[in-house]
Amino acid sequence: MYEHIVIVGAGQAAVQAVDTLRRRGFAGKLTLIGAEPWPPYQRPPLSKKYLAGALERERLLIRPPGFFADHAVTTHFGRRVTDIAPRERHVRLDDGVVVPFDALLLATGSHPRRLPVPGAELEGVHYLRTLDDADRIRAGLTGGGRLLIVGGGYIGLEVAATARELGVEVTVLEMAERVMSRVTCPEVSAFYEAEHARRGVRIRCNERLRALHGDERTGRVRSVLTEEGGEYPADVVLIGAGVAPADELARAAGLECGNGVVTEAHCRTSHEGIYAAGDCASHLSRQYGRHLRLESVDNAFEQGTTVALNLMGNETLHDKLPWFWSDQFDLKMVIVGLAQGYDAVVMRGSPAARSFSACYLRGGELIAIDTVNAPRDQMAARKLIAAHARPQVDRLADAGVALKDTV
Ligand SMILES: Cc1cc2nc3c(=O)[nH]c(=O)nc-3n(C[C@H](O)[C@H](O)[C@H](O)COP(=O)(O)OP(=O)(O)OC[C@H]3O[C@@H](n4cnc5c(N)ncnc54)[C@H](O)[C@@H]3O)c2cc1C
Repeated sequence: MYEHIVIVGAGQAAVQAVDTLRRRGFAGKLTLIGAEPWPPYQRPPLSKKYLAGALERERLLIRPPGFFADHAVTTHFGRRVTDIAPRERHVRLDDGVVVPFDALLLATGSHPRRLPVPGAELEGVHYLRTLDDADRIRAGLTGGGRLLIVGGGYIGLEVAATARELGVEVTVLEMAERVMSRVTCPEVSAFYEAEHARRGVRIRCNERLRALHGDERTGRVRSVLTEEGGEYPADVVLIGAGVAPADELARAAGLECGNGVVTEAHCRTSHEGIYAAGDCASHLSRQYGRHLRLESVDNAFEQGTTVALNLMGNETLHDKLPWFWSDQFDLKMVIVGLAQGYDAVVMRGSPAARSFSACYLRGGELIAIDTVNAPRDQMAARKLIAAHARPQVDRLADAGVALKDTV
């Protein structure tokens, strides 16, 4: 049993590990180190209710103030770990403090992908990952103005919806031929493009960012230029071009990394006693037979739990079916499973009635589903996907037949 567990990164995965360790009776020393000055908070509302001004800052906290002290956790918030010494078994903080560990959890999350284009450093150009980012974007949006979003993925479209509801003029530039192309099928993309257009969001696909132009006097962004020759005026720009794993500490320490910190199925890294969880981890999934790096609250939660159980000597695999959600306007999309390698999509329900599901099949097996305002399909799909069910296609396409009765 380990005596001192240190966790680097104070986000979703870290809190879950702390919580599980203490709830399961871990009585040793626990230290939590986070680069941001705040106690751990939820990120999903940063593009939704918090950005809209509909949620107080305090409501973002994953655990109430006092939780960490009450659970005998030593915290270093506002302190970055600058290096890990795996053999000597300590980490060093940016104020020079050295913290020894018996076991270490890396839960460092991910960084927004920076686009190396001229003008990206102009005033008014933002990325969205932290509370500070959200506050800056919100401040830029108050008083209307024109918001230009680069990237029609989840974050870009969620911010587009929120800003539009605040009365902001919004344009989204997407370099692919449709929005959310990496994660969903053409039918769902088309539905979201139409819903955004209906609310006044301008979406321009097949447009690649070339440069940002600014006002020489103020240093503020004024317009966005695309490779295709377009020029779009903008007062505020959000670049939502995906994220990269925050694995730089692990790389420097010689841990095996690929697309993130490589772990086996129990969340163990290549170094004994060092684990990784959440957005930063490239995890060996038994059910998918390959390494997966997922960016979702559910994944951080489940891997944080798994690490805690393994740290306490309860050999535990992480092999849960992934799921994710995205809120845009009054549309709640829940995605269960991974829509990769499918050979057929069956739509059920009615996009016109704004309640439907896209069911992804491979060789007749249901492997994933996107549900939009269809909670019953979502619940049933979890069981069917986990059971490798093969629904009857005609019944699947009939929303009058409950999903659970399609097999
Ligand atoms: C705007 C936004 C909206 C989202 N919406 C959704 C959604 O609707 N549904 C969903 O499932 N997921 C959503 N996500 C993704 C979800 O929030 C992440 O997948 C989740 O937070 C990952 O948890 P984590 O613990 O891996 O990392 P994080 O929660 O990002 O925490 C990592 C922490 O580690 C810290 N850190 C990094 N390096 C160091 C270091 N060297 N020293 C100390 N600390 C360090 C970071 O500062 C950070 O605070 C959203 C994310 C964003 C940004």
